[in-house]
Amino acid sequence: MSPRDKTAPRDGRPASGRNSTVLDIGRPPTAANPSAKPAAKPRDVDTPTVLSPRLTPNKNTKSVFIKTYGCQMNVYDSERMADVLAPIGYSAVDSPDHADLVILNTCHIREKAAEKVYSELGRIRKHQKTNNPDMKVAVAGCVAQAEGAEIKRRAPVVDMVLGPQTYHKLPEMIAQVTRATGDVLETDFDTIEKFDALPAGRNAKGYSAFLTVQEGCDKFCTFCVVPYTRGAEVSRPVDQIVAEARSLASQGVREITLIGQNVDAYHADGPDGSAWGLGHLIRHLAKIGGIDRMRFTTSHPRDMDADLIETLATEPKLMPYLHLPIQAGSDRVLDAMNRGHTYEHYKALIARIRAARPDIALSGDFIVGFPGETDEDFEATMTCVREIGYASSFSFKYSVRPGTPGASLPRQVPEDVKSERLKRLQELLYTQQREWNESLIGRTLDVLVEGTAKGDGQLFGRSPYLTGTHFDGPESLIGQIVPVRITSAGVNSLVGERV
Ligand code: SAM
Ligand code: SF4
Repeated sequence: MSPRDKTAPRDGRPASGRNSTVLDIGRPPTAANPSAKPAAKPRDVDTPTVLSPRLTPNKNTKSVFIKTYGCQMNVYDSERMADVLAPIGYSAVDSPDHADLVILNTCHIREKAAEKVYSELGRIRKHQKTNNPDMKVAVAGCVAQAEGAEIKRRAPVVDMVLGPQTYHKLPEMIAQVTRATGDVLETDFDTIEKFDALPAGRNAKGYSAFLTVQEGCDKFCTFCVVPYTRGAEVSRPVDQIVAEARSLASQGVREITLIGQNVDAYHADGPDGSAWGLGHLIRHLAKIGGIDRMRFTTSHPRDMDADLIETLATEPKLMPYLHLPIQAGSDRVLDAMNRGHTYEHYKALIARIRAARPDIALSGDFIVGFPGETDEDFEATMTCVREIGYASSFSFKYSVRPGTPGASLPRQVPEDVKSERLKRLQELLYTQQREWNESLIGRTLDVLVEGTAKGDGQLFGRSPYLTGTHFDGPESLIGQIVPVRITSAGVNSLVGERV
């Protein structure tokens, strides 16, 4: 069916279809005031976030300010850095003003993301000079891994440079810097050692948490730095993941999102000795008391196996949302990108997924202007979007990443052509996103309430489809899963009322 049908879910079933017992309890609609509600923006890797304080610092504790750039893997890593620092007396603060330690947890996926770090370091240097001369500065994450000592050269304010697989060593790095034995550069690649060394317990904040189950990538898409900055693909052992999930549940977390660069490539030996994929892991974790909802991201089309699709169909705690990037609709471009699949393969896969879970909200990533992309290739991406239909998306202009095969390809696409293509693509994607959201009007959705919204008396939570949802209610509902009747919808968020 057309993705522009405004009254029914994407598969064309009426709103009271397969999941109606869970999602649609069928109360009558009432009026709403959408203009009063702030829009929820999907997470964009170019928008940094600040780790919120867990403890109020006092004179006996030191303080750390962690600013996170990039994807959910970095959000997770920042939380784990705070966990590693807590035993040595550091508590997280939400401003660098009086912080003893500032950590920028960086993203290298596009040039813009990396350059932002250097601008921020310039501001930090000024602040350190005038207000806080004892402050130590660390650059962590993928820019640290990719640029190493070059960071110190461009920004001498930096004391520590640490790659994504070394943050468990933060206490010893801090000791080294504090003893003034020199600056620290740690860019090892031992993912297993990192996870073994991290504390088993998590310091949970909120009711929804990320949990890294897989890291790194062996696929080497020709545009991407991840295999170089995060290293080879590694899956965490089942017992480690279970212990972390239990720790989160015991602290009141109700929703866990399993994350990995290619999370559906997860593979490990289960406690029964058999080989487990992501589907098996999800079904196992879903048995943990207190965990009511599960999600996973980001998936690669080549790794979506039959067991995972079956789990989408049968595991009631698994939410009906799937982020499955295709990047481009042209087979020629997909081949040049080394994606390892064709458009027809992706389309057939989506058909199987929708047959298994008809109400699934599908999300994707797209790159326009990959080297050699012609007008015809770009039109194939537009056709892909029209044919598949997306509930949400992330779309980017191709960004040349030094050292990747794409950087040395001939026929780089001019910037103005990329911009024009991105504009057209986003118009289409945002129209579909709005239409998807509007198709939910009149339905009652279970919303996990995460906190208050900006408006007076308003709460904010997430629908099963991951859409940010606003409604009026008392703060006592924070942490609850509340039925909310959707009364209006925008491109990025829903508005409703409690039923
Ligand atoms: N592993 C996932 C996959 O293959 O679908 C994607 C992970 S990647 C960290 C997140 C997204 O960043 C990609 O899906 C891609 O759209 C975008 N991206 C990566 N490298 C890029 C580049 N050089 N220029 C523009 N976008 C890029
Ligand atoms: Fe990057 Fe491709 Fe690996 Fe995704 S699959 S992380 S895009 S190399």
